[in-house]
Amino acid sequence: MLFDPRPKTRREELFDREEELEELIEATKKYPLTLLLGIRRIGKSSILRVALNELNGIYIDARELYFESGGWISSSSLKKAIERSLNATKPKWRKELAEILKRIEGVKVSGLEIKLSRESSLTDVLLGLNEIGAVIAIDEAQYLRFYGARGGKEFLALVAYAYDNLENLSFVFSGSEVGLLHDFLRIDDYTSPLYGRAYEEVTVEPFSRDLSKEFLKSGFEEAEVRISEGEIEKAVEFLDGIPGWLVEFGYSYIHTKNFKEAMEKVLRKAEAMILGEIKELEKKSPRYSLILKAISLGLDRWELIKEYIEVRAGEVPNSRLASLLRNLEKMGWVKKEEGRYRIIDPVVREVISK
Ligand code: ADP
Ligand code: MG
Repeated sequence: MLFDPRPKTRREELFDREEELEELIEATKKYPLTLLLGIRRIGKSSILRVALNELNGIYIDARELYFESGGWISSSSLKKAIERSLNATKPKWRKELAEILKRIEGVKVSGLEIKLSRESSLTDVLLGLNEIGAVIAIDEAQYLRFYGARGGKEFLALVAYAYDNLENLSFVFSGSEVGLLHDFLRIDDYTSPLYGRAYEEVTVEPFSRDLSKEFLKSGFEEAEVRISEGEIEKAVEFLDGIPGWLVEFGYSYIHTKNFKEAMEKVLRKAEAMILGEIKELEKKSPRYSLILKAISLGLDRWELIKEYIEVRAGEVPNSRLASLLRNLEKMGWVKKEEGRYRIIDPVVREVISK
């Protein structure tokens, strides 16, 4: 169902995005490393999962791994995640996979269940995966900077090893926090394990206005719910082309059949999601939420933002403010154009400005 609020996994469930899918699938064939980039709720996980459904590969959500292991990812928790991902693959492929992996020390196979014991090594598992040929997809991969004690460097070294030696493996790293993902991989930095490696980037953009309307219409048609052209227009006007919000609206409208109520529901849900994300930001610096608030209120230039913050939280050195703003750009919250800052997602702007 188009308005199902979970990430899509099959091509029939995905609206449009044929181009992005083809680009991604082709890239995995040509490049050992592909980045799938775009802001939150734009549809990265859906595109990634649909692609994986058509390729042989494993899927790991690094963000989930980060939260479930309490903010630090150990090699044993990564191993557990890989084990889960192996066991979530399609039965036919898993059977072949199990045949190969069971020859590796520390890997046990019973029926279709693959178990990685403490003695198994990640390198050996990669060797096994290389033998069969696999895509290793890591969603929100910037969270792997919390792997191990050295900013994820051991993980990058493993990827670099696979890049150089295991030619049947292809990695896809997706990221909402595009700048943070680049900072983590540091492909331009000669001290990074991945220095100088070639890779492909696939960027996911919002739907155009017309495509957004098309999307809503198809979803309502599928659900056999009638809605006026004007209401579709208004919804797109407000939610822009971000599929995550369009789906929330469609889903709520199907249940309420009332524009105002549906929109209020979307905003309440958005508020809960966004406030959760901002709470994470505030752990890093309480100034982040003040900056976002200032920008959402239309204070879009450096001086105005600085004044807003200083009145409320005391002096902030220019260098500090610059770094906070740069981080907000890297995390995909704000964008700077011609010296003015804006919040990229209109729903985020609406929620924060309240
Ligand atoms: P991201 O990983 O970029 O945050 P998701 O793939 O989780 O985005 O998508 C957010 C929401 O939007 C999900 O509910 C998903 O079902 C929906 N969605 C995204 N892209 C599409 C699409 N092309 N067709 C249908 N639903 C989509
Ligand atoms: Mg996602």
